[in-house]
Amino acid sequence: MENLLELKDLYVRYNVKSSFYDMISGKKRKHVHAVNGVDFEIGKGEIFSLVGESGSGKTTVGRAILGLLDRNQVIGNILFNGKDILNAGRQGLKQYRLNAQMIFQDPYQSLDPKNTIFQIVSEPLIVNNITNNKNELYERVIAALNQAGMEPVKDIINRYPHELSGGQRQRVAIAGAMVLNPSFIVADEPVSMLDVSIRADILKLMVELRDKNNVSYLFITHDLSLAWVMSDRIAIMYLGKILEMGGSDEVIKSPVNPYSKALIEAIPRIGAKSGKDNVRIYGEIPDPINLPEGCVFYSRCPYAKDICRKEEPVLKEIMKNHFAACHLQ
Ligand code: SF4
Repeated sequence: MENLLELKDLYVRYNVKSSFYDMISGKKRKHVHAVNGVDFEIGKGEIFSLVGESGSGKTTVGRAILGLLDRNQVIGNILFNGKDILNAGRQGLKQYRLNAQMIFQDPYQSLDPKNTIFQIVSEPLIVNNITNNKNELYERVIAALNQAGMEPVKDIINRYPHELSGGQRQRVAIAGAMVLNPSFIVADEPVSMLDVSIRADILKLMVELRDKNNVSYLFITHDLSLAWVMSDRIAIMYLGKILEMGGSDEVIKSPVNPYSKALIEAIPRIGAKSGKDNVRIYGEIPDPINLPEGCVFYSRCPYAKDICRKEEPVLKEIMKNHFAACHLQ
């Protein structure tokens, strides 16, 4: 599969505002190390999931890829169709933004309540000077809403977001992302705010759009079972690093890193028994301001050894296209 997106050694670092006392005593400025050396690629038409707890850096990776962060906060390379988008000029960036869209977590907040559905879905076409022609706008909005499975479309385009259900709103958000015919979509927890009963429909729609339009997705989620259902490949993130990455079946059936094992064992299963080999983790993800030395998972890992505290494990290929970072291998 040909690559659409490649991330090489991506770092994202935010400045933390100094306290008044720190400032007058000349203390060094602190930083949040949100992403700490992430590499992966996404093929054309591939669904790639980033999975991790809150604070793992998965959303920050998505925002960095879409150019939504301050350029000074991002270090590394992001290549889209082989072109470096971090150093793209205005024209290059404009072209990239037509091709790369985002579906947000919260359809209640991502849609402007003052605008009709027609205004919301047509906005990207107008803002990007694709067309101002009323007939063409109408045709393209109807086509995008149809693609997103909204019906009856003609009844809906003049309504406001508050008149729609959560599932319908997320379909509108998907139509807004699809109206520019992008080749890449970052979907950040796209169903976590929806009722369980409509989640499957939205996920099915996303897969159908991939199959039909060859769109690639970066699917960001805390839910490993959803990632498994949705994706071709999965990467598990912790404290800004990828600890394991591979085909979804391989990662779920043969996890190597104890953190991956713990996430898999936390998936509720009917009839599952807990055994002495089950990996349980406790506590919270550490503070990304003071990154630990050695393995980032050291403080919570039930298998941690002395070396884990001193030496950071590197991501190695342990089976074909299955990578893991852990000293236990
Ligand atoms: Fe646990 Fe050590 Fe592996 Fe890190 S390197 S996951 S601390 S066993």
